[in-house]
Amino acid sequence: MTDQSGRLLSSIDHVLHEVFGFSEFRPRQRDVCLSAWRGNDVLLVMPTGAGKSLCYQLPTVARVDGRALVVSPLIALIEDQVGKLRALGIAADRIHSGRSRPDSWEACRQWRAGQLQFLFVAPERLGVPGFLDFLEEHKPALIAVDEAHCISMWGHDFRADYRQLGPRLARLRPANIVALTATATPEVQRDIVDQLNLKRPDIFIHGFRRKNIAIDVMEITPGARTESLIEVLKDQGRLPAIVYAPTRKIAESTAAELKDKFTCGVFHAGMPTGDRQTVQDAFLGGSIDVMVATIAFGMGVDKANVRTVIHLAMPGSVEGYYQEIGRAGRDGQLCHAILMYAPIDRKTHDYFLELNYPDPAILERVLDAVKQGSSDRDEVVGRLGLSPDIVKSALEKLLIHGGIRVGSEHRLETMDGLWERSYLRQRRHRVEQLAKAFSFAQSKVCRMLNLIHHFGDRDDSEESCGICDVCRGPSSATKMVQQLITEDQTAQETLLEGLIPFQSKTSGNFFREMFEPQGWSRRRFEGIVWDLEAKGLLFQSAQSFTKNGKQIDYSRIGLTDDGRAYLHDRGRAPSVSEQRKKIEDRQRSSTRKSKARKRSYFASLK
Ligand code: ADP
Ligand code: MG
Repeated sequence: MTDQSGRLLSSIDHVLHEVFGFSEFRPRQRDVCLSAWRGNDVLLVMPTGAGKSLCYQLPTVARVDGRALVVSPLIALIEDQVGKLRALGIAADRIHSGRSRPDSWEACRQWRAGQLQFLFVAPERLGVPGFLDFLEEHKPALIAVDEAHCISMWGHDFRADYRQLGPRLARLRPANIVALTATATPEVQRDIVDQLNLKRPDIFIHGFRRKNIAIDVMEITPGARTESLIEVLKDQGRLPAIVYAPTRKIAESTAAELKDKFTCGVFHAGMPTGDRQTVQDAFLGGSIDVMVATIAFGMGVDKANVRTVIHLAMPGSVEGYYQEIGRAGRDGQLCHAILMYAPIDRKTHDYFLELNYPDPAILERVLDAVKQGSSDRDEVVGRLGLSPDIVKSALEKLLIHGGIRVGSEHRLETMDGLWERSYLRQRRHRVEQLAKAFSFAQSKVCRMLNLIHHFGDRDDSEESCGICDVCRGPSSATKMVQQLITEDQTAQETLLEGLIPFQSKTSGNFFREMFEPQGWSRRRFEGIVWDLEAKGLLFQSAQSFTKNGKQIDYSRIGLTDDGRAYLHDRGRAPSVSEQRKKIEDRQRSSTRKSKARKRSYFASLK
């Protein structure tokens, strides 16, 4: 080591202690800091909580010319970082939509005067006329792009303004660019390097192994999940817990089920901001033990003692899954991640796929409507008669992939862009992400190793974790749930068998005759019916009648031909045609009997 690097190392250590107040670097932080200090472009991929911010903040402070522009996607993240830097006595400010104009002016003034070391902005800000010109005149020495996966069209948080960052930041060179993210797969990593035009970047990808998370994956039908969830959470050691639900509706209904057993809250993007904040604070503060949420919950949430993260359905991608379970056990103590899934979960994902990534033929139709003069979403909806949600996604995708643009007076205009190829690639990528998530769940490789391989971690030990369901065999939670699953299977078959003699039967009567006496709750019964319907083994039809002027709704259930064939294959029923014949015979004889009854009744009146 030369004298100069020796001096540098000691000066970097000095800044770590004196400015940031930390006693030592976390693994690899020093290497990254050195690289950024030397002026290299850097791609840093480390999990959430690993300490990525330090890797651009320390070099900025340690450099003589040190001042950094930080691009970050969320106001909450910006506020958090600015607050932390200021608490350390470092001059930092921010410009975003939540601030008043005078405050933003003041931030600009201080930046121009060289009084700020850090200026935080959202990516959209760089598109505001004049702002980039201003920065070009007062260049930063370093640029940090936080949550850089947003730049990639493969990343799940793809944002159009991130896409523009490459050419925009090019105007601020020779500043070196440090791109940071927690969720990039090798494909996204390549995309970040390309999009930001990073010059011979030093690439650091590590730290994905979480030694204290025991992952369990259970195949379990949707109808049995709430019951299993309650069993899992009954163990005090599993609280506090985050429960991820696949939809807002399921988040709401699950929270309602848990309410009288646990202190619990619900969180999703459909709720008013104020309510979300209140429930999040309650969870962070410890007055709520169970947070039932959609994936909208979690960004920037730092609660050290989360003991369990449970997924009530298959997540949409392995990256998302890793990010979500990463919120458990930040305190380093043992914690659990439990994933409940079944092949049927594919249906929900297919539904969202069609909604968020519509068929290219729909994009084509929307494009035509714009060509013919529709200038905004409502007009397109009116012209095509498609659902507003589908049109919204189609327009968004066309904007991103260059099929249309927003012209003067916010009117939509078509472009000659070759949107289709790039859109199809993005859509295919989404489909592959789903396939990878399912193959993760179905794989027999150590769960943690599987995740580490997924991210392409460069210096992992390659050892099995020893604590996941694959390494250890089923855990006590899995065994308990397995028991419920077996019970469910028996119940499913009993239910199907009970329906053999009938064309269809009123669901409520059937429950009261067969299941209530066995101590079953109505909810569990309905869960099983739901599962069997999802499997195509039985059908439900909604019915109603009027009593005392009020409409009473009920449903009838019956076996489908598949259901009858299923029972026949298991030796529990004669062939489908014989079953049908018996039903017809029975119906005929019961009609005969009732006719005979009527006849004798009328005869008695004579
Ligand atoms: P990331 O961006 O990777 O999710 P942050 O940069 O927000 O993580 O850091 C997570 C936490 O770790 C912060 O509270 C930060 O202060 C702390 N931290 C970072 N580096 C160190 C270190 N060397 N020693 C102790 N704490 C650290
Ligand atoms: Mg961060």
